[in-house]
Parts: sequence; C-alpha cells; structure tokens
Amino acid sequence: MGKTALVVDDSPTMRQMVALTLTNAGFKVVEAEHGKDAVNKVADGSKMDIVITDLNMPEMDGIALIKELRKKPVFKFTPILMLTTESSEDKKKAGKEAGATGWIVKPFNPELMLKVIAKVLPA
Ligand SMILES: [Mg+2]
Repeated sequence: MGKTALVVDDSPTMRQMVALTLTNAGFKVVEAEHGKDAVNKVADGSKMDIVITDLNMPEMDGIALIKELRKKPVFKFTPILMLTTESSEDKKKAGKEAGATGWIVKPFNPELMLKVIAKVLPA
C-alpha cells in the first residue's frame, strides 16, 4: 500500500514542488498551507507516514506544528522533516527540541529530499 505524506508550506510553489516529487515517488500527498491548516487536516485522526513542513508560516509556524503533532499518539513516532535554510542553526535546534526527526535544506533539491526520506522512513 502506498504511503501518505503531509506537506505543509505557505508557499504554493514550494508546496507543489515537494508534492510533485513525492507523488512521483509513489506517495499519496495531503497538502496544508500552514500549521493550523495541517492540524485541521489530521483532526479526524488521520495517520501520516511522514510529515514535511516549512518553518516560517502564518497562523502556526513549523515549530509549533511539530509540537502539536507530537502531542498526538498517532504522530508520536512519525518522521517529521523540516524545510530550512542553511543559515537557520537556531531554528534547527528549536525544531529538534520540538521533536523534528531531521531537516531538508533549501533550496529544494528533489533527489536529496528523497534520500533523506529513505533514511528516516523504513520501506
Ligand atoms: Mg514559509
């Protein structure tokens, strides 16, 4: 059975690039435009195999989203990857503390993202 990914980014372009890469890799993709939207989309108890989230977003940012998801039993062990910029060391640290599994550095590189996913998501 295919795996499902939750892709959260306030940039439609970025979201589409990530979603397209994942769809091509065989994932079913659920998109959300910010943390609150993402929380609403899993409020019915939906389980995701992986979450990829941007950090800077309106309404609810990536760090707050990771904290919210980690409170839910179904997201306790779900790999959560943050999209970050090279320079955001403090954000990476905050993400780790919030419960992020790892990160993907922008600018977005499809092959690199799939490599990181393969590392954190058992086949
Ligand atoms: Mg953003």
